[in-house]
Amino acid sequence: MVLMHHVPAIVTKLFSGMLWNKCRKENKIYLTFDDGPVPGVTDFVLEELDKREMKATFFMVGDNVKKHPQLALNVAEAGHGIGNHTFHHLNGYYASFDNYLSDIESCEYVFEEVLEQNSSLFRPPYGKLTKKQFEAIKSKYQVVMWDVLSGDYDQRQSPTKCLSKTKKYSRNGSIILFHDQLKTQQVLKKILPDYLDFVQDTGFQTAVL
Ligand SMILES: [Zn+2]
Repeated sequence: MVLMHHVPAIVTKLFSGMLWNKCRKENKIYLTFDDGPVPGVTDFVLEELDKREMKATFFMVGDNVKKHPQLALNVAEAGHGIGNHTFHHLNGYYASFDNYLSDIESCEYVFEEVLEQNSSLFRPPYGKLTKKQFEAIKSKYQVVMWDVLSGDYDQRQSPTKCLSKTKKYSRNGSIILFHDQLKTQQVLKKILPDYLDFVQDTGFQTAVL
């Protein structure tokens, strides 16, 4: 996991072919939520987005989609984007090549079963993906990283600091990373409403990736 709130240009050059941000000329922000669907957290996110008529992309873990199919359906039916985040939330640096690819397939399979749709987007858990894994999936998926990390998982940082940094680095075309999962829910619930108000007040549009 990159611990910086924004990704330096040198990093994005090393991993060209992955998506780190969208067009810097349009005043659009791309909200992304990883690791759900999780009851009590994903529903909260959906409500906050709905209140402001905002759209986001959810990188869902296959196992969670299988456990909470209705919640996954609620995400898709609300018009948000969905992306593959592996079935077991695997770290690409530790998983074997074959296991990693089959875990992505298992996630895709559950998307087909539950949501009756496929995803063309993939985000590697922890942002960890080897060159070989990337080469193997890049024709099927747009690999989506981020340029602004909300830091919602970072226990060493106060929610206030987390919110102010996320605002500070948000700009045209930014892809913002949040997590809709149990470990981050406390911070997420504190900062998301304020952050979304900021997005609205600044005049950014939100869009699905
Ligand atoms: Zn994740």
